[in-house]
Amino acid sequence: MTETIAIFAAVLTLALVAIGLLERLRARRTDDAVDRAIDEAERISARQPLMQHPQIDPLQCVGCGACVAACPEGEVLAVRGGVAVIVNGARCVGHGRCETACPVGAIRIGLGAVAQRDDIPTVTDEHESTVPGLFLAGELTGIALIRNAVTHGVACVDAIARRLDADGASGGARDGRATIGIIGAGPAGLSAALRAIELGIDHIVIEQQQAGGTIRHYPRQKLVMTEPVALPLVGRLRRRDYTKEELIELWEDTLSRQPIVLSAGERLVELVRDDGGFLVRTTGAEHRVRFVILALGRRGTPRKLGVPGEEQAKVAYRLTDATRYADCDVLVVGGGDSAIEAALALAAQPGNRVTLSYRKEAFFRIKARNADRLDEAVKRGRVDVRYRSVVDRIEPDTVTLRISTPDGDADLTIQNDFVFVFAGGIPPFDLLRKAGVAFGAQPVS
Ligand SMILES: Cc1cc2nc3c(=O)[nH]c(=O)nc-3n(C[C@H](O)[C@H](O)[C@H](O)COP(=O)(O)OP(=O)(O)OC[C@H]3O[C@@H](n4cnc5c(N)ncnc54)[C@H](O)[C@@H]3O)c2cc1C
Repeated sequence: MTETIAIFAAVLTLALVAIGLLERLRARRTDDAVDRAIDEAERISARQPLMQHPQIDPLQCVGCGACVAACPEGEVLAVRGGVAVIVNGARCVGHGRCETACPVGAIRIGLGAVAQRDDIPTVTDEHESTVPGLFLAGELTGIALIRNAVTHGVACVDAIARRLDADGASGGARDGRATIGIIGAGPAGLSAALRAIELGIDHIVIEQQQAGGTIRHYPRQKLVMTEPVALPLVGRLRRRDYTKEELIELWEDTLSRQPIVLSAGERLVELVRDDGGFLVRTTGAEHRVRFVILALGRRGTPRKLGVPGEEQAKVAYRLTDATRYADCDVLVVGGGDSAIEAALALAAQPGNRVTLSYRKEAFFRIKARNADRLDEAVKRGRVDVRYRSVVDRIEPDTVTLRISTPDGDADLTIQNDFVFVFAGGIPPFDLLRKAGVAFGAQPVS
């Protein structure tokens, strides 16, 4: 009997040791995989967060992984060495689901060191920049999420209303000068406009593209997560999930019902102070306003190629739904992940012939997964990559590429129905600096 117990105890001990060893091996494999993911994120400059993000207290973290599972954007967080770490910080949009999911309160969402960066504008508690009368709202301040953009837009107008009250001034336009110029018609700008209407304050909204902001450029049917938030004159958005299309419909319905003064297709190029407030110079006009709310987001203005024929409707700077293109000759221009993902998505549609033009001799900063998928698509003849090429001109049915070869430049003219340009964006920060806005101090959280 004693012998049986001893044998049982020995087997149990061995089993426990084996389980422990296997567990350590598994943990090491997981840690190695996380290290590789971090190296990859560093290589493509995706490690550093751009906006508010999880601040992890390693002393409190128990490494349970609840935060990793809760993140709707995927691959932002991982557990390494029993502690949560940021892997792809640039993918974080600050939902905060990780903070809520953490059972021991080891995560707090905030700007952290990002607040000191020289692309985070300084604002007061009232969202006013260092230029009196110039307010900043939404993602431009480094704080992402639709709910925050809405809250900021409303708060800016409320602050302006208090100024008007204090001066005993009305909200109406005076001497041809609108009271508030709102630049950008994303969630922040549109909420500001709705609040201005609600308070009877005269306004104009200037938007370089179409109203809707970044939401318009989400992939088709993207599930948008938001916290309940009240939109002036519209009411509470009660659900936590909407599709992209539902949100766009909501904006369009609001634009048709409410007297929002919107000038779309006009881009702000300069903001100058004058005696009565500001002169807002755009690509189409000059507007005089008393106060300005900049709600430009952080994605900037798409960089153009500057070639003849680029103004044609077949040229676009984003691809939101590849399934709308079939049996087409398509040119994609660019060397980043967006360009490659667009080329691959278009190549997957029936009958498309896709050419990818890149000015360098190889792709440098793309995800390893995209590089593999592109190689495969090239091998299968789905994508024709033209390195060392630039677009020379765009005609209605063709595109001409100028390709640099060891023997000099050669022109290649190919059939073309659509051109997608992914040449990055021109961020709005220079524009802000020229207007006198200071950067780098702790903004509103
Ligand atoms: C892929 C992705 C997924 C996301 N998912 C979610 C999500 O699920 N839930 C969530 O809450 N948030 C999400 N976000 C974040 C959210 O979209 C943004 O935080 C929000 O749109 C910010 O609103 P905004 O009004 O500040 O700026 P934006 O929505 O970026 O709008 C800015 C507007 O300003 C215009 N503009 C810019 N420059 C000029 C100029 N010079 N002149 C005139 N107009 C100009 C732009 O064209 C744009 O319409 C996501 C973001 C991305 C990129």
